[in-house]
Amino acid sequence: ESRLVAWHSGLKHGVNKLEHMRGRHELPLTKSEWQKKLTPEQFYVTREKGTEPPFSGVYLNNKESGMYHCVCCDSPLFSSEKKYCSGTGWPAFSEAHGTSGSDERDTGILRRVDTSLGLTRTEVVCKQCEAHLGHVFPDGPGPSGQRFCINSVALKFKPRKH
Ligand SMILES: [Zn+2]
Repeated sequence: ESRLVAWHSGLKHGVNKLEHMRGRHELPLTKSEWQKKLTPEQFYVTREKGTEPPFSGVYLNNKESGMYHCVCCDSPLFSSEKKYCSGTGWPAFSEAHGTSGSDERDTGILRRVDTSLGLTRTEVVCKQCEAHLGHVFPDGPGPSGQRFCINSVALKFKPRKH
């Protein structure tokens, strides 16, 4: 009987796990689902690793206080506190929201090696939905010396409530 109970609780655990996974995957998964959810520009940048034209983005000169979220899944990615003007034509951040020291475990982003265009760059993607956000370069300000070069189109700004 105890074996049966163990088996039953194992099954229950498995079901809970499945429910949990399903909950996390309420996001659109297929290309056409993303295409329906996003504008053509958002789709091109986030799902096809595109780049918006320089100096075209709506958040380039945004100096309001708040949080920049993933346009695809709403995950908080970058705080206005770490935004700066890099002069390159894209919004720049010196670190991702949730970074502690050089530890990015609690951030909403992941780094990936990108060897497209014959260059070796570090791509920045959303941890939750794998949206392409931009790249990170080692020529930023301050002690971290990083420049997260992020497409405006991949972001959704939410002003801080006062
Ligand atoms: Zn996302």
